[in-house]
Amino acid sequence: MRVILLGAPGAGKGTQALRLKEKYQIPQLSSGDMLRAAVEARTPAGISAKAIMDKGGLVPDETVVGIVAERIEAPDAEAGFILDGFPRTVRQAQALDKLLAAKNMALDSVIELEVDDAALLGRIAKRASETLASGGTVRADDNPEAFEVRLSAYHAQTAPVSEYYRQRGLLKTVDGMASVDDVASAIEQLIDR
Ligand code: ADP
Repeated sequence: MRVILLGAPGAGKGTQALRLKEKYQIPQLSSGDMLRAAVEARTPAGISAKAIMDKGGLVPDETVVGIVAERIEAPDAEAGFILDGFPRTVRQAQALDKLLAAKNMALDSVIELEVDDAALLGRIAKRASETLASGGTVRADDNPEAFEVRLSAYHAQTAPVSEYYRQRGLLKTVDGMASVDDVASAIEQLIDR
């Protein structure tokens, strides 16, 4: 099963991806996690991505496509995967189509989590304070300034990705304002249908 989770920053993609990972026993491929790992490991891609990420901007398509493509090639992704945070631009969606076609793979569903803009900043702030309370390190981009940039990148560049998949008959939408459990069951119903 190959699923894409779409939604604004803070919409709950990561949380729901983990649920799906457990339920269907397929890996969660989070482009944000991959990029943060590249930053941590100080790879050339990570070094150039860091400043952009910290400010909330989008990393260049070539960089992200390269990293995700490599991950999709890994043996554990053969039986399926949940993509979280990718594709974020129409060019990334086109690159993914090419990549999957070359491997004779197709997408099963693209699920968009819909959350009001007003609720998103509150969720990010909550994540930052919970991380602090548990002794963790808050993400450099989980602050109001970087969040504004992330949200505008989402509206300008990622919203067209939903349209891209809608036109291909793959897009399904879920009310992301509901509780984590309710969102999870709505997603499962769409997938199992
Ligand atoms: P969120 O969805 O909460 O904003 P992510 O962990 O998905 O967080 O992404 C964090 C940052 O990593 C983004 O703001 C962006 O800088 C970068 N990033 C992640 N995925 C992509 C992508 N597909 N294309 C470009 N940049 C990306």
